[in-house]
Amino acid sequence: MNARGSTIIVAGLLGCMACSAEQSSPNLLFIVVDSLRADRLEAYGYHRPTPAISSLAKDGVLFEESYSSAPWTLPAVATLFTGLAPTRHAATNTDALMSEELETLAERLLSKGYSTSGIVSNRIIGKKTRFNQGFERFDQELARGHRFISSQLITQLAIRELAVLARDPNEKPFFLFVHYFDPHYEYRNHEQIDYAGDSFGRLKGDEKIGQLRGMLADLNESELDFIRDRYDEEILFTDSAIGRLLDRLDRLELTENTLVVFTADHGEEFRDHGWLGHTQSLYRELVRVPLILRGPGVAQKLRLADPVSAVDLAPTLLELLGFREGLGDGSSLAPLLRGEALPARPVFCEVDYLGVDEGRPGLRTCHKKSVVGERYQLVRDDQSGVVELFEYRLDPAQAFDLSEEQPEEVRRLTSLLDKHLAQLALGAREMERTQFDEAELSELRELGYVDSEDDEDH
Ligand SMILES: [Zn+2]
Repeated sequence: MNARGSTIIVAGLLGCMACSAEQSSPNLLFIVVDSLRADRLEAYGYHRPTPAISSLAKDGVLFEESYSSAPWTLPAVATLFTGLAPTRHAATNTDALMSEELETLAERLLSKGYSTSGIVSNRIIGKKTRFNQGFERFDQELARGHRFISSQLITQLAIRELAVLARDPNEKPFFLFVHYFDPHYEYRNHEQIDYAGDSFGRLKGDEKIGQLRGMLADLNESELDFIRDRYDEEILFTDSAIGRLLDRLDRLELTENTLVVFTADHGEEFRDHGWLGHTQSLYRELVRVPLILRGPGVAQKLRLADPVSAVDLAPTLLELLGFREGLGDGSSLAPLLRGEALPARPVFCEVDYLGVDEGRPGLRTCHKKSVVGERYQLVRDDQSGVVELFEYRLDPAQAFDLSEEQPEEVRRLTSLLDKHLAQLALGAREMERTQFDEAELSELRELGYVDSEDDEDH
C-alpha cells in the first residue's frame, strides 16, 4: 500500500466516525418517569429516600434547573423525541399526532446503525400517536391506565430487551427508551412502603382524579398530605424498579459503554396553585423536572445550576454519542457535561391546550407561555393577559408575584419571550389530528383516558 492509499483510508475512517455508529459507539438508555416533579427526589433535596436515582446522580451530572417544554405528556415527550418546541412539533392537543414528517431521535439513531427499542406505559405516547417512529421494536402492552401498577413489569420488559440487545451478533450499539408511569395519578397504595395507609379522613384512596378535583377547594391539609404521601410511595416504588434496571445494566457489563439519561416529562401539582394534576399551568411544580446523565463523556459528581431546556436534550445526546449534527431547536449541553462552561440561556415553556367541554369543571382551554432566566421565571396567561414574575430560587413555591415590584425585569423577560415566539412562529406546523374509532374509544374509556364523567389528563 502506498502512502497516498493509507492517507485516504485514514481520512475515510475519521469521516465515518461522525456519520454512523461504530462497534464502540456508546449505547443509550433513556429513562423517562411520567409526572415526576424534581423536588420530590432525594437528589434534589427531598427528605425521603430515592436511592437508585441518588446513586445515578452521584456517578454523573445533575441539572438542578431543568425544564420541560410543556406541562403534560404528549407535547413534552414529543419535544424529548424531536428536540422541537411544542409550537414547532404541533403535538399539543389530546387528539394530536406526532407528524411523520418530523425526524425523531430514534429515527436518527436507527439511520446511524443503532438498534432501537421503546417501552412505554402511557398509551398517549404509543403507536396511535406515532411515537413509535424509528423504533425497530416498540412495546406498549403495559399502558393499562391509571390504576394499573406497571413499574416492576416495565423493568422486566426492559431487562429482557437489554439481554437481547447485549447478545446482538452484529454488536450494534443500542438505543433503549423506557417510560415509567406509576407516579402519574391515580396513586396506588404500596403496602411495602409506609408513607400512607389505605385511606384517610374522607378519602377512601380509590377516588378518580375527577372526584378529587371536584372536592379540591374543600380538602384539608391532612387530606392533601395523604395524596402527597401516596404520590411519594409511587415514586419510591418506581425508584426501586429503576434500580433493578440499572443493576442489570451493570451485571451485563454494559454500564461503562452506556450513556444513561434520566428525566421526567413534567411535574405534578397538589393545589400548589389551585389545581390537582397537570396540563393547565406553567408553574415550577409542573415544568421543573429532574435531569441526570451518566456515562461516556459525562463528568461525575457534578451539579449544574443554570436553567436548561428539554429542547437541548436530543442534540446533547447525539453529541455525546459521537454525532456532529444536532436535532431540533436546541443546542448541545455536552460541554457542560464535560465540566466546561457555556453561557446561560433563557428557557421557554408553553401550553396550548384545547378543552373538550368548557362547561364541565376540569380541563379547560389554556394558552400560557413562560420564560425562565438566571434568577426569575415569568409566566404569562395569553387568555387573561395576567403576567407573573417569581424569583424561583428564593421562592420555590412561587407564592410571591414580583411583577409589580420589578417592572424592568418583566419588560426584559417579556421581550425575550416575544422574540422567541416570533421565531417559533416562522417554523410553526399545523397540528395533525387523529380520529378514534368506536373500538379505540371504548378501549380508551376502559383504560381511563376518555371518560364521560371525569376529566382525565395525561
Ligand atoms: Zn405525563
